[in-house]
Amino acid sequence: MNELKKDAYSYSRKKFEEYFLEKNQAKFRATQLFEALYRGRISEFTQINNIKKEIIGELEEEFTLPKLKMVIKNVASDGTTKFLFALKDGALIETVLMCHEYGYSVCVTSQVGCNMGCAFCASGTIKRIRNLEPSEMVLQVLEIDNYLRLEEKRVSHVVIMGIGEPFDNYENVVEFIKIINDARGLEIGARHITVSTCGIVPKIYEFAELDLQVNLAVSLHFANDQKRNEYMKINKKYNLESLISALKVYYAKTNRRITFEYILLKGINDSLDDAKELVNLVRDLNCYVNLIPYNETDGKFMRTDEKTRNQFFDYLIKNRINAIVRKEHGHDIDAACGQLRVKTMKENE
Ligand code: SAH
Repeated sequence: MNELKKDAYSYSRKKFEEYFLEKNQAKFRATQLFEALYRGRISEFTQINNIKKEIIGELEEEFTLPKLKMVIKNVASDGTTKFLFALKDGALIETVLMCHEYGYSVCVTSQVGCNMGCAFCASGTIKRIRNLEPSEMVLQVLEIDNYLRLEEKRVSHVVIMGIGEPFDNYENVVEFIKIINDARGLEIGARHITVSTCGIVPKIYEFAELDLQVNLAVSLHFANDQKRNEYMKINKKYNLESLISALKVYYAKTNRRITFEYILLKGINDSLDDAKELVNLVRDLNCYVNLIPYNETDGKFMRTDEKTRNQFFDYLIKNRINAIVRKEHGHDIDAACGQLRVKTMKENE
């Protein structure tokens, strides 16, 4: 394979427009090409029949149409399906398909490994090796959409909550969002796309400027700096005050309600005092809090029992914080972030 070739799935329609304009071709070629890639699902450029042969020849010279190699596919009893894909350099990534009443969502990985080092997270046990290219994220969605197509279903929602910190791979993640959101492509509605960050504050400001109308989720998990510093090292760089200020600006610019993710960890952040701190921290924001049952990974942290969880939840509701307890998916197949990958890598050692 020619290493200099570019990967077609990394190109937004705008980027293809620039490409064609540079070749003195009409801009609408970009739309034709995009439709062929994402509606026609071509596997070779020669399958495109509404673009002149010479142009097809040039596309073949300059671009590749790669695929992801599926290594493992695990289907849970509730339909949650976990895919382990190998990238072109052999790196392994996880992608999860979840079935909801409202449609099918894909949880996308954004980096090979992660450098955020959150103490409770399995993904963080393997350091970042590299960022994913836009195409490697697009292909996670595309491969799973192809899989659903066999049953006349489609991916309706995308959450960038797999392994990696999306705002640590900011440019590629933004490009990825533009590609999957494009009305001539996969057409995943902006409001059906969620980016989850542990709180890289400068990127929240940058993201606000784009006004993409996607959902922003913030992995909060702790409502005071002392605890957050202890378990999430990003907080030492960007503390809660700076995070909340950024989110206020984000809301002012985009008018989009923010989601806070809060994993309940037994005896660590699940008391009523913790709930009170949480209420005080977020009460001025238009937000909702997603209470997440912890997926136990290595025994260091434990999940909060149901009674304590309900007390925590009730406290939030009584204090007029919108809260929900996240439904669990695929409990029988190591569905927590990074678990399948860590297990497979350990088995291969
Ligand atoms: N880096 C991003 C996105 C990836 S993590 C972020 O921090 O948001 C996606 C979510 O899963 C985060 O809220 C993370 O804290 C949470 N998470 C990590 N390990 C978990 C586990 N074992 N059980 C439940 N949620 C977990």
